[in-house]
Amino acid sequence: MSKPSPEVYEEGKGMDAHNSVMRDIRSRNDSTYDPREPTRVWLDEDNTPDGVYQSLTIILNTGGCRWARAGGCTMCGYVAESVEGGSVAHEDLMAQIQHCLDHEAENSDETSGLIKIYTSGSFLDEREVPAETRRAIAETFADRERIVVESLPDFVDEETVGDFVDAGLETDVAVGLETATDRVRHDCVNKYFDFADFEEASEAAQAAGAGVKAYLLMKPPFLSEAEAVEDMKRSVRRCGAVDGCHTVSMNPCNVQRYTMVEELYHDGGYRPPWLWSVADVLESTADEDVIVVSDPVGHGSDRGPHNCGECDDKVQRAIKDFDLRQDPSVFEQVSCECEATWDAVIERERGYSLPLAR
Ligand code: SF4
Ligand SMILES: [Zn+2]
Repeated sequence: MSKPSPEVYEEGKGMDAHNSVMRDIRSRNDSTYDPREPTRVWLDEDNTPDGVYQSLTIILNTGGCRWARAGGCTMCGYVAESVEGGSVAHEDLMAQIQHCLDHEAENSDETSGLIKIYTSGSFLDEREVPAETRRAIAETFADRERIVVESLPDFVDEETVGDFVDAGLETDVAVGLETATDRVRHDCVNKYFDFADFEEASEAAQAAGAGVKAYLLMKPPFLSEAEAVEDMKRSVRRCGAVDGCHTVSMNPCNVQRYTMVEELYHDGGYRPPWLWSVADVLESTADEDVIVVSDPVGHGSDRGPHNCGECDDKVQRAIKDFDLRQDPSVFEQVSCECEATWDAVIERERGYSLPLAR
């Protein structure tokens, strides 16, 4: 890829143009949401540096991401799910937490060792989650083993992260880095920060006694399948080399509503990644000194990562198996005729002619 020239950041071009398109697309959404209900909550199993835990994943409904209000990332539809008006009161956020605890009690006999909290933005941003609420949530879960809280790098500091460490929890900060390549993060994802900011946030988390989990995005718009695979392999390696970053969650892009990705998808300009591409990255980075997991959301559907339709469930199962065991041989046991199509796409698709096959 060529280096960006200064004019791509001029008004009406580059990031400014991306933001203006995204604001326009998002403004078409007129749904509203209840501030006392979380966006989503579910139970699962997760691989951590201490082994596999039952996990309770919570997506809190907060005022929404600041960056999304400016326009935001090309693939992110989360802001379409947040509360209108921009902020949610302490009592309402705590009611959402209670709703999640009830969900856990109704669906499992055991309490989850791992709690993962995401928002439609940054949990550590005090405009979304006030310090008082953050501390009350840390207290609520103080009897668990581990917690993951999501944040953009800007809000990671010793004080915010320290609340969870002080409650006796093994704490990880999940950062939506998306890619280690600044050019791809800026121009394809439309996310504003640099890899150096991620490194700084990792240092701050470590100073507070916490670890870091990097979230990567496979195949943002405008990248060919081969470029997307290479971008992920490089990114996993660079993240693995950052002190304190012990886990990478590498997730394929899916087509969310009210996003630029959706516009491109409808106009024939975007196809979510192949599951073979996910398998390829996991297999070839398995020797890195970092846990790499992936959770292909919407796998097998046209709007989610998919292969031919015949083998999607099989490959998805191998990926989930890899997540828990980190053993690349799981991929030797899956094959399908569509691998030949995928090979051809990897070899022939170019950024200006994609997608080559659907
Ligand atoms: S991906 Fe994160 S930073 Fe980007 S718009 Fe969505 S919530 Fe905001
Ligand atoms: Zn297939």
